[in-house]
Amino acid sequence: MNDYDKLFEGVDPRDAQEVLSRAIDHFGDRITMATSLQLGGLVLLDMLHRTGKSIPVFSIDTGRLPEETYECAEAVRRKYGINIHWVFPRHEAVEEMEREKGLFSFKENIENRKECCGIRKVEPLDRALEGYDAWITGRRMDQSDTRKELRFIESDPVHPGLVKVNPLIHWNQAELWYYVEEHGVPHNRLYDEGYLSIGCACCTRPCREGEDERAGRWWWENPEHKECGLHLNYRQGGGI
Ligand code: SF4
Repeated sequence: MNDYDKLFEGVDPRDAQEVLSRAIDHFGDRITMATSLQLGGLVLLDMLHRTGKSIPVFSIDTGRLPEETYECAEAVRRKYGINIHWVFPRHEAVEEMEREKGLFSFKENIENRKECCGIRKVEPLDRALEGYDAWITGRRMDQSDTRKELRFIESDPVHPGLVKVNPLIHWNQAELWYYVEEHGVPHNRLYDEGYLSIGCACCTRPCREGEDERAGRWWWENPEHKECGLHLNYRQGGGI
């Protein structure tokens, strides 16, 4: 057991609030929370509010988010008084990509898709994390094959010196919904239209019965490619 594992020693695996609370106590002003306003992130925002502790919360505005995501962000601001720190891509990089490759280059091949995610998500994330030692994510083991090995805390191989704290690893979608309904947590209304995972509008679609939660993201790609670069275990060439 390493020092980080000791931080959560004795915690009930499903007690995400306790994991969150201990992480904030341990890292103090060196921890931040990333949210894309998906179900797990919304549950964590509610839990953060309940801890009575305040840490910076940021979200990346890729420029292609659905209107419903902005509405959800406003509902969060009204309910919890949390002012999300919005981080935008470098406009020069977006302008150059769109000028040279058009507005939908990400659908042409995986390299272009990773380039777009790199410019609109990964680079802004790198900037948002500058100056911190830890960041909190809403990732869960059951989300996809690429997330089955998650731990409460893990070093971030892409951002040397940082760790990721993942309080919700043992939760599933049904438990998140139970929490949302029990506590009146605001949620993105696209979930009511069959979406199971919500990202950029042009790269997200509703899921069909029985489909994997991530099936609605980049549905034209093979499952092993379905990470946007924010949570890869390594960063490939080309900025991802
Ligand atoms: S999800 Fe789609 S639009 Fe959004 S950054 Fe990635 S490729 Fe670009």
